[in-house]
Amino acid sequence: MAGTDATSRTPAIVRRVDELRALVRGFRTAGETVALVPTMGALHAGHLALVRAAQAECRRVVATIFVNPTQFGPNEDFHSYPRDEPGDLAKLESVGADAVFIPTVEEMYRPSASTTVTVAGLTEDLCGRFRPGHFAGVATVVTKLLLQALPDVALFGEKDYQQLLVIKRLVRDLDIPVRVIGVPTVREADGLALSSRNAYLSPEQRQIAPVLHQVLARIARLLAQGAEAAPLLAEGRAELQRAGFGPVQYLEARDAETLEPVARAARDARVLAAAYLGKVRLIDNVPVPIHGG
Ligand code: AMP
Repeated sequence: MAGTDATSRTPAIVRRVDELRALVRGFRTAGETVALVPTMGALHAGHLALVRAAQAECRRVVATIFVNPTQFGPNEDFHSYPRDEPGDLAKLESVGADAVFIPTVEEMYRPSASTTVTVAGLTEDLCGRFRPGHFAGVATVVTKLLLQALPDVALFGEKDYQQLLVIKRLVRDLDIPVRVIGVPTVREADGLALSSRNAYLSPEQRQIAPVLHQVLARIARLLAQGAEAAPLLAEGRAELQRAGFGPVQYLEARDAETLEPVARAARDARVLAAAYLGKVRLIDNVPVPIHGG
């Protein structure tokens, strides 16, 4: 549908918090609802699905692009993280996003900034175990973005399932007046979850990468049929290793709301994994399809 009125508007670009606030105030004065879609850029079809879901909820959609240094560990890829502002703007235009907030690090963090948002419990396991400080960085920047923009709705991908739960929790605990919506993961035809970091995969690694989703999907299907989790998870780890994955940081069956381990999928559950393929850390997760009561 490219070229129609609905999809060819150039998004307004704002780089300062006061400009963002003025922009949203303008929308509100016109009686329009506002959705926020936070990203780190290097946009792909997964991000654009968030924008489309946002358009279904609100009259106006504001995306944000900010590679947040505080959510990267000292040995992680903050400096090499893919950045492509012109490409991102073209993609946002193609889906008709109304505006994009692209702050600098200095705009987001004053030199004397000393406040951090931490969400206890939920952040201590899974990715939190292997990325100390990561969720505090995410929780702090998302809290700031929500308070800066004060949107009606904010959308996040199920791709980062633990992150989605952390954000829902902080919004509830801090009484931030925004509705958080999770959007299902967008995948390649072979099942690989879209991720900005997939760009790091070599052609050989790209061939192996879909095994992660295959393993998750099989475990979820068998759990839904009543199987016990532990042997499935052990076999899944072995299969990832055989396929060529390096360290499997975790492969777990968890309650979909509390992230507590589940031995069998009696209620809503999720199978989640993080594993290295060469130097690339891939994460993915799938719901356990339990139907009926
Ligand atoms: P990122 O730019 O990786 O920080 O992601 C920005 C937002 O897009 C987060 O809410 C992610 O969960 C979401 N996202 C990333 N990849 C996907 C995907 N494949 N499908 C749906 N949402 C995604």
